Amino acid sequence: MTAPVNDNRTGTCPICNKEAAVAHKPFCSARCKDVDLGRWLDGGYAIPAVELPDEGDLEEAMQDAFQSGDKRDPEF
Ligand SMILES: [Zn+2]
Repeated sequence: MTAPVNDNRTGTCPICNKEAAVAHKPFCSARCKDVDLGRWLDGGYAIPAVELPDEGDLEEAMQDAFQSGDKRDPEF
């Protein structure tokens, strides 16, 4: 396994082609990191921030809770 990577260099930033910074590898700065992230989000790769449960499932779960509260399991 041979890596043509120089120890002193971290490679080039894929955004602006400047020398990347160790702290922000493989980018040169936090800004370019954000740019890259923005590209992902703009590219239709949308990830919902919060996944809400289906309302039907929630109702069902609540009904289950009520029912199990009414008739108690004698073994419990
Ligand atoms: Zn950059």
